[in-house]
Amino acid sequence: MKKLSFLIAIFLIVSCANEPSNELTIYTSRQPQLIEPIIEKFTEQTGIKVNYLSGNAQELMERIDVEGIKSPADIFMTVDAGVLWQAAERDIFQTIDSDVLKNNIPSYLRDPNNQWFGLSKRARTIVFSNDQFSEDDFSSYEDLADPKWKGKLCLRTSKKVYNRSLMASMIDTYGFEKTKDVVSGWVSNLATDVFSNDTNALKAVSSGQCGMTIVNTYYFARLLDDPQYDNLSLFWANQNDRGVHVNISGAGVVKTSENKKNAILLLEYLSSDEAQDLYASANKEYPVLIGAKVHESIKGWGEFKEDNINVSKLGSLQKDAVFLAQEVNYK
Ligand code: FE
Repeated sequence: MKKLSFLIAIFLIVSCANEPSNELTIYTSRQPQLIEPIIEKFTEQTGIKVNYLSGNAQELMERIDVEGIKSPADIFMTVDAGVLWQAAERDIFQTIDSDVLKNNIPSYLRDPNNQWFGLSKRARTIVFSNDQFSEDDFSSYEDLADPKWKGKLCLRTSKKVYNRSLMASMIDTYGFEKTKDVVSGWVSNLATDVFSNDTNALKAVSSGQCGMTIVNTYYFARLLDDPQYDNLSLFWANQNDRGVHVNISGAGVVKTSENKKNAILLLEYLSSDEAQDLYASANKEYPVLIGAKVHESIKGWGEFKEDNINVSKLGSLQKDAVFLAQEVNYK
């Protein structure tokens, strides 16, 4: 009997999974505590309840594939345009026609085919040891390949999508061969083995193991409260040419969603003035909406010129970036 009621329960869940409802389910690789407070406001205003399934981006995409038309996922939310691009390639998203999203999100921060949309901006730039150097010593990512920096550079592994996207942006600007020369120069300048994460690379700069690194600024922001890291300074790269490399966190509506209208409403809400301040501030990232507030603690870094190549290129050139890193032995 128990078994039978269990089976009935399963049947009900499965058969209800794709009925339109006043609930939305987000599959997200973002930490729930970063988005929950904002989404609670959405629920207050619309009465639409939001459920989360959080996990690793690759596993969530796999799950959406396996669940097929029965997937409860309405929205897939993740970080890095490289991953969003991959999700679109896997045919996970549906095309959305929303003037609100088009107006709020600059065109270079969303998919040209309107399948996914940037909701926050993440800048990846140079952080250096002010014990050893001053900002006059720096200019660009490419300059870090100069032999004058031999034994001074620390980098995170090329296996991280953030660095693949950075290399992809350079391939788009300079072509494969020139980018290869630059990355090969970086590898020759390494002070030590590559790091598994940005925070450890920053700590190595602070301890004097190296002189500079390239990181997403929110990792640096997390260290700002600790006086131990006062010897780290941020430098906005490439201000005299293409600008700082920016990537996004973002989302799209899942192809099999029966709640398309509400899912679009939620994305529109996340791109709105009210949500953008909070959404970007939660992880000390930058808003995509022009004019939205930047978190108090990172205001001091000032404004910066950003590279405005379309972030979908970071996805389409990802394979080239992986190949390039292998060619120059960037681990
Ligand atoms: Fe990160």
